[in-house]
Amino acid sequence: MKIIMLGAPGAGKGTQAKMIAEKYGIPHVSTGDIFRANIKNGTKLGLEAKKYMDQGLLVPDELTVKILLDRVAQPDCERGYVLDGFPRTIPQAEVLDEALNKLGDAIDYAINVEVPDENIIRRMSGRRACVSCGATYHVEHIPPRQEGVCDKCGQDLILRDDDKPETVQNRLKVYHDQTKPLIDFYSGKGILRTVDGTVDMKDVFDAIEAILG
Ligand code: ADP
Ligand code: AMP
Repeated sequence: MKIIMLGAPGAGKGTQAKMIAEKYGIPHVSTGDIFRANIKNGTKLGLEAKKYMDQGLLVPDELTVKILLDRVAQPDCERGYVLDGFPRTIPQAEVLDEALNKLGDAIDYAINVEVPDENIIRRMSGRRACVSCGATYHVEHIPPRQEGVCDKCGQDLILRDDDKPETVQNRLKVYHDQTKPLIDFYSGKGILRTVDGTVDMKDVFDAIEAILG
């Protein structure tokens, strides 16, 4: 099964993608996580990507498409995957479509997690991410057992640089301008499914399970 998660930054794509990956036994592929791992390791790609990420801008398609296509060509993706944060532009979606087409394959579902802009800023300022394993929490809605400490690996939880309110405003604008058109793109292909992302994360997942079966 090949799934795309759509939605504004902070809508809960990563939270739901991890639950889908676990239930359906497919890898969770997040371009944001790949970039952050590269930043942490000080690679050339990481240094380049950071320039854009810190401003809330998209990393150019030339860089992003290649890392995504390399990742989904790995053996663990043979049985499918859930993409979180890719595609974010129409050209990215077209390249992915073409690459799958060549293999006689296609995306099965694009799941749009819908959350109004008013909720997004609150969500992002409360998000805490693990410096080591990338697990995410929310200080009010999904708190860790011990404040500032990851339940899964015991490492520190931080507020991402790009989750500061000024940057979130930019990311929301970029989402509306460049990523939202993907809703029509996948709707036109008949594979778009929309779920209400404002309810409890377990209820969001119930709605997704009803779609995926
Ligand atoms: P995205 O991957 O779309 O950027 P995340 O999955 O990281 O978003 O979620 C953004 C923030 O909102 C995180 O702090 C997460 O813990 C929290 N969150 C996710 N789903 C819900 C939900 N249904 N209700 C409340 N908070 C949520
Ligand atoms: P995320 O973790 O998905 O919120 O992504 C964090 C940041 O990484 C984004 O704000 C972008 O700067 C960059 N990024 C992640 N995925 C993509 C993508 N598909 N295209 C361009 N930039 C991306």
